[in-house]
Amino acid sequence: MEMLTCEKCGNIYDKAITITMNGEQHVFDCFECAISKLAPHCTCCDTVIIGHGVEADGQFFCCAHCAKTQGHFMIDRPIQEKISNLQT
Ligand SMILES: [Zn+2]
Ligand SMILES: [Zn+2]
Repeated sequence: MEMLTCEKCGNIYDKAITITMNGEQHVFDCFECAISKLAPHCTCCDTVIIGHGVEADGQFFCCAHCAKTQGHFMIDRPIQEKISNLQT
C-alpha cells in the first residue's frame, strides 16, 4: 500500500486521503488535518466552516447572522423573520 505524507502534520500514513480543491491536489492523513488546512473561515467570527456556510461577494460566513454584520442581507429562517418583521 502506498504511503503518503500529510501536508498538514507530516504524518506518513497508508490510509491517507487526497482532496482536489481549485484544481490542486492535497494529501492528508485525516479529515481534521484537511479541515484545518483547507476549510474556509467565517469573515466575521473566524469560525471554521465545515458545512456549506454562506457566501457573499467572495467572502464566506458561517451563518446568515455573520453575513448581515458585514452588510449582506441573508435569511436562514425565512418564516420566523417574516413573523418578527410583521410584529415590529
Ligand atoms: Zn495530518
Ligand atoms: Zn461567523
